[in-house]
Amino acid sequence: MILTVGAGPAGSLSSFLLAKKGYNVLIAEEHQLVGFPVQCAGLISKNCYESYSRYIKVSRCVEKKIKGAFFISPSGHRIEAKGDAFVIERKIFDRMLFEKTAEVAETIVKAKVRFKGKKAFINEKELKFIYLIGADGVHSTVARHFGFKRPEIYTALQVEVKYEPLDEEFVELYFGRNFSDFFAYTIPLDSTAKVGVICKKDPLARLENFLKHLKTKGSILELNTGAIPSDLVNFVKEKVVLLGDSAGMVKPYTGGGLYYLLVAAEKLAKNFPNLRAFKIDFLKEMFLDFKIGKIIRKLYSMPDDKLDELFILFKDYNFSGINMDHPSSILKKIPLRLLKKPSLAFQVFKKIIS
Ligand SMILES: Cc1cc2nc3c(=O)[nH]c(=O)nc-3n(C[C@H](O)[C@H](O)[C@H](O)COP(=O)(O)OP(=O)(O)OC[C@H]3O[C@@H](n4cnc5c(N)ncnc54)[C@H](O)[C@@H]3O)c2cc1C
Repeated sequence: MILTVGAGPAGSLSSFLLAKKGYNVLIAEEHQLVGFPVQCAGLISKNCYESYSRYIKVSRCVEKKIKGAFFISPSGHRIEAKGDAFVIERKIFDRMLFEKTAEVAETIVKAKVRFKGKKAFINEKELKFIYLIGADGVHSTVARHFGFKRPEIYTALQVEVKYEPLDEEFVELYFGRNFSDFFAYTIPLDSTAKVGVICKKDPLARLENFLKHLKTKGSILELNTGAIPSDLVNFVKEKVVLLGDSAGMVKPYTGGGLYYLLVAAEKLAKNFPNLRAFKIDFLKEMFLDFKIGKIIRKLYSMPDDKLDELFILFKDYNFSGINMDHPSSILKKIPLRLLKKPSLAFQVFKKIIS
């Protein structure tokens, strides 16, 4: 018997795949309504869209198609990167995954799971299990109870407001101390945009500053807040697995978690019940991407003037063809370009090893 705690995408997808393989799975979700409250911007790559489309009709929850991104430096230098992506409605997406899971696994909602020793309870009722999947998000009870190391977290603060984007089909990513110690973003919808900051310190002040800078209009239509794990942590201990945000399975350079948790859920189902093999299989595919993702993130905190120089150097760089879900694919060309500016290359190198 497998007990999955949490019916976010990590819990639903892994439970679905394991139940399809014939395992007896119970998935418990603390909220009555799966997918609520929403804590996501819903931006996924085409690769991620296609991967989930193997299981659900993702096209039903698409809010907007995206054609690319502008990366914007502290002084406003822009890099344009073309590439298809989608904004999905997470409420619908999570519910579709959960409904699919309910066809093959046992589900309970309004069921907050607690632990005493090695036993799990909902209220006073004990839930028997042999394997436990902690898919209970960034503040995971499973991880804390079973003594897993916890990652540091970033705060994400996002609002929906009226905003005139630079291009109606492009997201905008802003870098530099003024906006964030990570980054700030806008994601266009039809007449509004999702505008957010992800940072460690002062999210509210930074969001206010960012909204002022963008000259957004009117009142805030929706507020969305949450936490993003900064690092992948150990995710297997005896018969307990952490999956998704509870394990820090997010792209270190964006905080996006939907693709990495899918890779993990598929690998867990493929290797189950050999959890060691699952861990090795996941790390074999993703370890380099986590490493490179973290290096990219380090560069965000370079001094503003150096960031500007970096943007100028890569202004005409052709980013198309780079798989944003696998940042290690960036490795092939970028370092060569850096050699054109040795002093900047030195600054970058210093940052990477710091
Ligand atoms: C503001 C914001 C914007 C984001 N934007 C993007 C984006 O654009 N693209 C992207 O890919 N990612 C994005 N992310 C990250 C993405 O939302 C997460 O990576 C993803 O939701 C992780 O899924 P999960 O299933 O691991 O956890 P969650 O979605 O957090 O699900 C965990 C579930 O566990 C339940 N739970 C918790 N404790 C218990 C308990 N004790 N008992 C029972 N149930 C429990 C919770 O109710 C919840 O339903 C964003 C995150 C934030 C905060």
